[in-house]
Amino acid sequence: MRMFLSRVHFPVTALGHGRRVGLWFQGCSLHCPGCISADTWAHDEGAVNTGQVIDQLSAFAADADGLTVSGGEPFEQPEALAELLAAWRSISDRSVLVFTGLELGQIQPWLDAHPDLIDALITGPFRSDLPQTKALRGSDNQALHVLTQRGAPFLAYERNATGSDLKLDIMIDADGAAWMAGIPARGDLAKLRRALAAAGHTVVTSDMPGRFAA
Ligand code: SF4
Repeated sequence: MRMFLSRVHFPVTALGHGRRVGLWFQGCSLHCPGCISADTWAHDEGAVNTGQVIDQLSAFAADADGLTVSGGEPFEQPEALAELLAAWRSISDRSVLVFTGLELGQIQPWLDAHPDLIDALITGPFRSDLPQTKALRGSDNQALHVLTQRGAPFLAYERNATGSDLKLDIMIDADGAAWMAGIPARGDLAKLRRALAAAGHTVVTSDMPGRFAA
């Protein structure tokens, strides 16, 4: 099946417990102001076949403590999401955490049609106008849902965030582009820009308005 993928990466340590495979879908229509993943908004970029993505997941599965899916908006490609998560179930017994900007009611039909593919969910759009106090969440409107027994460890995140929850994994691609995975504290990217600018670097980050075309 053709789908649009931002990236697959292993290990990711800042989006759930353990060393997880990170899978970022490409394409999001929600356009939350202040989104730190605006590079994943554009649709029709990163076309791949799901078989290629499953091969990537398979390469990491044996060493991974779980799979974390984000984006982009995973539920804007519902068939690909179902195929990839079903494949994960066939290659790993480790948990699946999915971040979505949609509310639970909006994706309930998908969940009903695909029971047991997702163990824990974070739902709701990022709201930069609301406080950020909860673990694993960028704003306090976002809700954690534990859907299966396998997802029970995620109940530990139903608490206020501590400093270690707000860490970021920073990776550098072969072309020199740096990217980050995790839930930054408010203002962290601006602080990073200032620190690098003070060292003589010119830095643009994906949360800057107008950085990426809608
Ligand atoms: S925060 Fe998530 S749902 Fe909101 S615009 Fe960014 S990628 Fe889309």
